[in-house]
Amino acid sequence: MTQIAFIGLGNMGGPMAANLLKAGHAVRVFDLLPDAVATAVGHGAQAATSAPDALAGAEVVISMLPASRHVEGLYLGADGILARIPEGALVIDCSTIAPAVAKKVSEAAAARGLAMLDAPVSGGTAGAAAGTLTFIVGGASEALERARPVLGAMGKNIFHVGGSGAGQVAKLCNNMALGVIMAVTGEALALGAAHGLDPAVLSQMMAVSTGRSWATEVCNPWPGVLENAPASRGYTGGFGTDLMLKDLGLAAEAAMGVGAAIPLGELARNLYALNSKAGRGGLDFSSIVKLAAPDA
Ligand code: NAD
Repeated sequence: MTQIAFIGLGNMGGPMAANLLKAGHAVRVFDLLPDAVATAVGHGAQAATSAPDALAGAEVVISMLPASRHVEGLYLGADGILARIPEGALVIDCSTIAPAVAKKVSEAAAARGLAMLDAPVSGGTAGAAAGTLTFIVGGASEALERARPVLGAMGKNIFHVGGSGAGQVAKLCNNMALGVIMAVTGEALALGAAHGLDPAVLSQMMAVSTGRSWATEVCNPWPGVLENAPASRGYTGGFGTDLMLKDLGLAAEAAMGVGAAIPLGELARNLYALNSKAGRGGLDFSSIVKLAAPDA
């Protein structure tokens, strides 16, 4: 049993914390939203009244926040927690953020003698709930060995892709591919529907053909095709359009940093920006299908 501080209990952090509790760890939680804390307490967590309060006795600190500014603010801000993390604790940030920010925070942690990993995840809210996430880890091998029992309670695949920040680079590569695939899957279903095809039958065919992907099989963008997909519950409770937009912006920055060409990634970033401007920033990113099929 490990005493864990868990900060950020949103669509992903909430179920991740619940799985840590299920595995027998003691988890002290904080989120800016009291309802999110209350839900975690319902799963057996101890409620903290602030981020620093969550650190009491922590052997491992986990954060799962929206974006770079939240992570930088949490650890290094005016009331940042880095200075107050107990001696010897391991710090794991699971948010998807800029590689440069991940490095900056982990260097500040190292200066305090604390090991820190960037460990962004893949698998969506369904993977978070099922405890089957993929962790994409950057940082020192010894720190990862210490993290394995904790990560193993929330996921089933762990990839060590390099030093600090490398986990974020790999995660951005994955999400850039995902963003493009979701957008084009929506277009394909809209094209078929415009010709009078049933999007469910089209999806079933694609799911066993060469156009298959996570977007056809798990998070199908057409409402009603998959009962458990966000599309079938008004695009709620999944991976927000604005979070995908953030990741594609980070991919664009990463590409510029090394002079890489990502024409499809840039196009997808613009499509998600349009989807956000159409009022769907807070809805699951599969709502991108609405650009091609507004009545879907
Ligand atoms: P979310 O918006 O649902 O949750 C974020 C939570 O952080 C919210 O509950 C918010 O109140 C809380 N928060 C923000 N600032 C805080 C602070 N300073 N202190 C305490 N709590 C704070 O986001 P999410 O969908 O859970 O995603 C979290 C991260 O995981 C993002 O970086 C996202 O890109 C990444 N991610 C999401 C998914 C997905 O399917 N949703 C999948 C993989 C990775």
